Amino acid sequence: MLITVRSGADPAEVQKSLVALGLWVRPLVEARAPVAGATAGASAGAGGARTHFLVEACSSGVDPSSVLSVPGVEAVAESRSPHPLLDRQGPSVRVGRVTIGGEAGPVWMAGPCSIESAAHIDELAAQLAGLGVQLLRGGAFKPRSSPYSFQGHGLQALGWMREAARRRGLGVVTEALDAADVGAVAEMADLIQIGSRNMQNFALLKAAGQTGRPVLLKRGMAATLDEWRLAAEYCLVHGAAGVVLCERGIRGFDPSTRNLLDLGAVALLAHHHRLPVVVDPSHATGRRDLIAPLSRAALAAGAAGLLIEVHASPGEALSDGPQALLPEELGALIGSVTRPAERTIS
Ligand code: PEP
Ligand code: MN
Repeated sequence: MLITVRSGADPAEVQKSLVALGLWVRPLVEARAPVAGATAGASAGAGGARTHFLVEACSSGVDPSSVLSVPGVEAVAESRSPHPLLDRQGPSVRVGRVTIGGEAGPVWMAGPCSIESAAHIDELAAQLAGLGVQLLRGGAFKPRSSPYSFQGHGLQALGWMREAARRRGLGVVTEALDAADVGAVAEMADLIQIGSRNMQNFALLKAAGQTGRPVLLKRGMAATLDEWRLAAEYCLVHGAAGVVLCERGIRGFDPSTRNLLDLGAVALLAHHHRLPVVVDPSHATGRRDLIAPLSRAALAAGAAGLLIEVHASPGEALSDGPQALLPEELGALIGSVTRPAERTIS
């Protein structure tokens, strides 16, 4: 929001009144003031130096008409959002029979890093369904740092996972790595995952959107929240049924944890921007002993759900064994979270 001070009015007095309304305002010199979009009240008019106040995003929500009635305020311009579809989406997304976000309780998405065989995913799906997990995760196409690491079993693994999920009444979330595979992934998945390394692969975002499926958009490891939300807008503008954001840690400087879990971003997105955001503590920490405490912290911060890697024998996992929980460890974690996350700030 941009507020223009009437010429002749005392900007310091106007600022005091605005602050009293609960607004955090930053004065702008005339030359830097952006051109107003939709303007409420009288236009700023030409001639004479003007003071403008830019209202910071952290301000409490104030109706523009009450700002206009502040003595000395001439005009109020509301800035146009660069991601109108995401703003309109609201705090929840429907994924098959599951709702992620809003008033719904936490959604549990769990499974192996990689889908290793039909029998492996089937057995794990049975255990996870018994623990209260709603969506089965697992990678068929794996984005690996080294070309020599296991790359996933590809299309056949998608079939294994879909069948395992069907047998146990679970939904499926799995990653599309390439625009060429996104159609096949969409046929098998209820929620298409876009991985961290691909958050700004715009061709892939477009292709994922065009399938009409909801998208789980992981945060790029050095992406700002604005970049992340614009990437979500790409999916929506091309037809995605909804976008769920997934915080999975950003690049830090200390290798003690694999990444740096940004729970401030989670709280901001959940409470201020009212968007569905889930947390992946597995890739955020790289260590199974940190999954439970960070999962609880994520829910307390406003996460709508958790994406957690689980393996029956982590020491033999084809990828990411050190961060995989045993099924019974996941069961204990789910059991310890007795109440839905608090979703509003009073
Ligand atoms: C994954 O979830 O399998 C994965 C590779 O995660 P990320 O894109 O967050 O590294
Ligand atoms: Mn993994």
